[in-house]
Amino acid sequence: MALVKTISELNDWLDEHGRKNKTVGFVPTMGYLHEGHLSLIKEARANNDLVVVSIFVNPTQFGPGEDYERYPRDIERDYKHAIESGADVVFNPEANEIYVPGSSTEVEVKGELTKKLCGASRPTHFKGVTTVVNILFNIVRPDRAYFGQKDAQQAIIVKKMVRDLHIPVEIIVCPVVREKDGLAMSSRNTYLNPDERKQAPALYRGLQQAQKYFLSGAPDSTHVEKLKAIIRQEIEKEPLADIEYIEILDGETLEDIECIEPHRNALAAVAVRFGSTRLIDNTILIMEGV
Ligand code: AMP
Repeated sequence: MALVKTISELNDWLDEHGRKNKTVGFVPTMGYLHEGHLSLIKEARANNDLVVVSIFVNPTQFGPGEDYERYPRDIERDYKHAIESGADVVFNPEANEIYVPGSSTEVEVKGELTKKLCGASRPTHFKGVTTVVNILFNIVRPDRAYFGQKDAQQAIIVKKMVRDLHIPVEIIVCPVVREKDGLAMSSRNTYLNPDERKQAPALYRGLQQAQKYFLSGAPDSTHVEKLKAIIRQEIEKEPLADIEYIEILDGETLEDIECIEPHRNALAAVAVRFGSTRLIDNTILIMEGV
């Protein structure tokens, strides 16, 4: 069975499978795998000789009072799904394997990138993410690492870290995978009760409406405030939706913009709570044909 729990087991496995002369694709996850995760594994499978998937619920990216303890875990099911989707080996370490006793080093991308959007309500979250991704990169030493556009801000921040620290890995960002009704797949969707689940696709509907208006050519179709209002109106139709943010920012730098310029991507991103469950979603607004 290619399920390993320690760094030395992982190194042994990789050595035995000739990692020296092979490309390694890496998919870091927190487990409770769904089709979104599996799409990353399939993409890694298609483009690398060896595929490593990590399943690690990283304590440092959860803030106080967040859902670290109750985060869903099912390693047997995850292992099966990962292997079926093309993983060669699944790395499922304990926290003390990743964070050595007395560990006191953190990796932080500074500035606005980590303060906006999810960074505003989760001030220590991205530091936890960049620290663990860095540690995992050092352990796995992948040629390519796969992240989901679902967590758009995370992908931008990881790319920035890789560039700033000259980490020799290529970051590949894969599209958002959705349920039939448009809800972005997430391990946290399992927290939703039936009423909340029914209302949750409003995030996607709001983003779609903004996309549609953006492409309509109306005089104010590139105005950020107008587009944000369209998203808000759609989400507010659902009584259980409690909006945390609706933002439209430059798609690469996350800088504030007033209008979406041709030839620039804009990221429309939302975070909405349903009860105690916090959902995020986003879409890239880009002019067709430019
Ligand atoms: P997580 O287990 O939530 O840390 O996610 C692991 C990776 O899977 C991250 O790069 C996520 O962005 C990605 N991911 C999660 N949900 C989706 C989805 N619905 N579509 C595509 N990628 C996703």
